[in-house]
Amino acid sequence: MTTTRFAPSPTGYIHVGNLRTALMNFLIARKAGGQFILRIDDTDPERSKEEYVDAIKADLEWLGLHWDKVERQSERLDRYVAAADKLREMGRFYEAFETPTELDLKRKKQLNMGKPPVYDRAALTLSEEERAALRAERGDGVWRFKLEHERIEWEDGILGHTSIDAASVSDPVLIRGDGQFLYTLASVVDDTEMGVTHVVRGSDHVTNTATQIQIIQALGGNVPSFAHHSLLTGPQGESLSKRLGTLSLRDLRASGVEPMALLSLMARLGSADPVELRSDMAELIEGFDITRFGAAPTKFDVNDLYPLTARILHERGFEDVKRQISDIGVPDDLAERFWMVTRENITTLNDLEAWWAMFRDGAEPVIDDEDKEFVAEAMALLPEGPFDDATWGQWTSAVKEATGRKGRGLFMPLRKALTGQSHGPDMSQVLPLLQNIKAKG
Ligand code: GLU
Repeated sequence: MTTTRFAPSPTGYIHVGNLRTALMNFLIARKAGGQFILRIDDTDPERSKEEYVDAIKADLEWLGLHWDKVERQSERLDRYVAAADKLREMGRFYEAFETPTELDLKRKKQLNMGKPPVYDRAALTLSEEERAALRAERGDGVWRFKLEHERIEWEDGILGHTSIDAASVSDPVLIRGDGQFLYTLASVVDDTEMGVTHVVRGSDHVTNTATQIQIIQALGGNVPSFAHHSLLTGPQGESLSKRLGTLSLRDLRASGVEPMALLSLMARLGSADPVELRSDMAELIEGFDITRFGAAPTKFDVNDLYPLTARILHERGFEDVKRQISDIGVPDDLAERFWMVTRENITTLNDLEAWWAMFRDGAEPVIDDEDKEFVAEAMALLPEGPFDDATWGQWTSAVKEATGRKGRGLFMPLRKALTGQSHGPDMSQVLPLLQNIKAKG
């Protein structure tokens, strides 16, 4: 069965970059009728926080990216111990005692000599006594996986044929000095035991993939299909890494972005196909094809989300927004009319509040000098409320008759006097919503 997973570390809120990964994995699983696992990569007890686990779930649920099961790495430590033992028995695992400063020095020397900064495997030459002495002096060492020095190759779902020389990569540390298992091992054990068939993640993981393929093979697991999507940049191609904090799903949600706007954009951004606004998950799944994505960095502009959001809202039926409208205090008898009048004039649902305030309190009138007398005369002719659909027509006919004005010269000053704006919804629809008219004095 096709099985994918989204594997965030709960050390912060997830952002658009994470969403790209989550969405691709989700869509692959759903398209194949397979299973989508939410895997919480929480092997780091200091940085992992329960509130972020909850937040990640809430963000995915908001988007409708429902998972089939949740796995937590912190509950699987015994599995990692077993895998580590296995690697040790096979002679593919060794303890190393260099301090970070020593490693840094080694790297600098290598770079000075024009060599790639790859760990020199000095720990492999330590005798049993030297190891014991170092352990006594420095405590437990880190455990490194001994790579086979050969080319590691795979057919990447996005990058195509990919090949990395294992000799150009340091033997990865899989267990820290304090005994903490690192992601590189935990992920391999999980992917193997959970039957993960496809792994999509950012291209910053390409080197990891190379080493993980060797670890999977050493442990006797099946190597999944890998695909590495490009990283997102800002609209000008600038790095997004520092700004991703402001592009959290939580903030986008608060800014009024609609889930389908975000999903539609992310399901196509960086692919050869144009962005198409989808109306539901089934369409999104249907239109997704990972082979259409390219390796080049993908430009993301948060502003692209708002026109898509507006398009969704323009079509939205009243039943779907009833609760939000009642929440901002619109009386039930006006609620549906309020929605029909405003939906084409908003970008996000957050805009509704200002519209309701305008209808409830009345707008500051805008009256040009040459219209002062005209507006005063018209206001005197305005009947007492409540107004209905016919009021505007009847009133403007009466005003036309009394003043001789017609067309734009008649309607525009009245619109500006009542709404404070020179454009907006049909006035015959606006008038019945107006609870107060400041221009009436
Ligand atoms: N926890 C890892 C990360 O967030 C998962 C990477 C992977 O998909 O394997 O980078």
